[in-house]
Amino acid sequence: MNLSTHDLIIIGAGPAGLTCGLYAGRSRLKTVILEKMAPGGRLLLTETIENFPGFSGGIATADLVRRMQEQVESLGIKIEPLEALEVDCRDKSVKTPSKTYSAQAIIIASGAKPRRLNIPGEERLTGKGVSYCATCDAPLFKGKNILIVGGGNAVAEEALYLARFATSVNIIHRRGELRAAGILQEKLEANKKINFTLNSVVEEISGAARVESVRVKDVNTRKESLLACEGVFIYIGYEPDTVFLKDKVKMDEAGFIITDENMAASQEGIFACGDCRKKLLYQAITACADGAIAAESAYKYISEATT
Ligand code: NAP
Repeated sequence: MNLSTHDLIIIGAGPAGLTCGLYAGRSRLKTVILEKMAPGGRLLLTETIENFPGFSGGIATADLVRRMQEQVESLGIKIEPLEALEVDCRDKSVKTPSKTYSAQAIIIASGAKPRRLNIPGEERLTGKGVSYCATCDAPLFKGKNILIVGGGNAVAEEALYLARFATSVNIIHRRGELRAAGILQEKLEANKKINFTLNSVVEEISGAARVESVRVKDVNTRKESLLACEGVFIYIGYEPDTVFLKDKVKMDEAGFIITDENMAASQEGIFACGDCRKKLLYQAITACADGAIAAESAYKYISEATT
């Protein structure tokens, strides 16, 4: 067996995992970070972040992630481009497609992925007009009419970003009001390219080779209408990326890991932080705070176990 031994394994290199790496590196723990995609996590699904302390006027998320990654790597910590397939909580090992890692403690910072609408046409037309990432795809919709589904902070921020490219951005939300922060709602209302279809749900996305229209139902009148569009962006929240841990640690019914205030999960030596954990506020800054606490808790756990 191809086995690599460390003090600490961190699963995920979003803001939570990278902050864990920073603190673990400064504690001189022999640490590896496993990341199946690019470092940055779901932060990279958005273009700029306006509420990260210290950056008035905002900072490009790619820039922030690059700085976090450089800071971690400067401490000699490697970010391996590998997916964690299975975690053994008893012997503290993590199986990946190419090797097995073992350590004294494991921190889960696997984040969350975009929730799907699960309606006809959504899967078939993903990448053909249906998108979950405005940052990645907005330039493809220059001069086009697009719809964006959801009512939270993400929809508000991404509608504003998409409006820089598209001719029109129609926000479709299932209730009569958004739940986005007031400052974002004011910006939406001031933007002439942005309009709203409220109390409405998308029932189907249609198009032969690419998106051409969506069928929308008014939840009050039950009336259906067809809206022509060339793109559909979906921002209806996130679900935790914790399937590889199912039945291994305590989770809520949606799969968010339950921890105590020190980020300890239900199994000894296993910690969780960031968006994969059940908590009140899902923000980059709270992911970083979680990551710092998780690394400190893991350090204490490892120190006590070895003395
Ligand atoms: P969110 O705050 O959970 O909002 C999701 C929205 O999608 C809600 O308006 C919800 O409707 C709607 N929705 C959920 N399921 C749906 C379905 N099946 N069909 C139609 N609509 C559905 O999610 P988010 O905006 O993606 O943000 C996720 C987290 O990141 C939040 O904690 C958010 O505050 C944070 N975030 C923060 C910022 C920022 O601070 N600048 C930016 C982006 C994200 P209801 O309103 O009816 O429930």
